[in-house]
Amino acid sequence: MKRTFIAPSKYIQGPHELENIGTYAKKLGKKAMLLISEGGKKRFGELLEKSFVKEEMAYVIEAFNGECSKKEIKRLDDVVKAEGYDVMVAVGGGKIFDTAKAVAYYNDIPVIICPTIAATDAPCSALSVIYTEEGEVEEYLFLKQNPNVVLVDSYVISKSPVRLTVSGMGDALATYFEARASYKHDGNNFADGKALHTGIALAKLCYETLLAEGYKAKTALEKGALTPSVEAIIEANTLLSGLGFESGGVAAAHAVHNGFSALEECHKMYHGEKVAFGVITQLVLENAPEEELNEVLDFCISVGLPVTLKQIGVEEFDYDKILKVAKIACAPTDTAVNMPFDIDPEMVANAIIAADALGEKRLQSAR
Ligand SMILES: [Zn+2]
Repeated sequence: MKRTFIAPSKYIQGPHELENIGTYAKKLGKKAMLLISEGGKKRFGELLEKSFVKEEMAYVIEAFNGECSKKEIKRLDDVVKAEGYDVMVAVGGGKIFDTAKAVAYYNDIPVIICPTIAATDAPCSALSVIYTEEGEVEEYLFLKQNPNVVLVDSYVISKSPVRLTVSGMGDALATYFEARASYKHDGNNFADGKALHTGIALAKLCYETLLAEGYKAKTALEKGALTPSVEAIIEANTLLSGLGFESGGVAAAHAVHNGFSALEECHKMYHGEKVAFGVITQLVLENAPEEELNEVLDFCISVGLPVTLKQIGVEEFDYDKILKVAKIACAPTDTAVNMPFDIDPEMVANAIIAADALGEKRLQSAR
């Protein structure tokens, strides 16, 4: 049996590190393409330019068109080839990273990822999710390697919307439970193998960090304060969760998330918020001990992650709707196949209903 572990070559985290982007880019190439949104350009354009000018490094700031689609990748790929850019730098969120990673992959050049939010565990992975022009997932592009550098400016994150960082905690909450379930089943990770102890240990550290630092970090972030607990949560959301999911493996929590993503009424919820409810559902499916369930529920309630159907946008309960979610979660191509036992839509639907009831009870007792 092959066991694997993969990671970015370098991970840097600290306040105002984005000001050093030129220095890091210069170590990897001579001419950089910086991919960023129009809004991001307004916020960080001057700072980025200063850093490249200081290093006397050639660069261009390219505006991202908003979708990580084949068309956008091709457009940027043409520019990179025509102008001879030899390093990609992505500043912003998930879709910008995935686009830059794909362009770097097709040109065999290094890529630096600079998250300005800590909302998901996408930055560190060797994976690009490609969407259609309409925003539907089209394919997963597995890359040759993880990003060369992931550079997280914790000051920038501390000024980003709190709800995004809390959502990142929801995504990170799934890491340990999904890796644990997948490990029991000898499920595949995203690194072309099965999990090593290393992947599981990092996933566990991710969960422990959330429990120890989550509430403190959220409270500090509400005032825009950067504290050691905020640093710890940025690391958990970005690095530990990223390494943990990729080399550990994913299971039912993300599959349940995918089911809820198909419901119109859940569209206003963030990825990690739906994933958090997916974690509670997975724990019910596994018949986890009451103590563990309550620990997870209390954590979610303390940081403001949803624990009921209503909180993820499902206003009216309807069994058929829940069954539809469960059917999507049980698709043979989805990650619930990594659960250590057979599941079917009826089981998942019942777990969702029970998760909602447990969440409601716990919410009432917390009030
Ligand atoms: Zn996720």
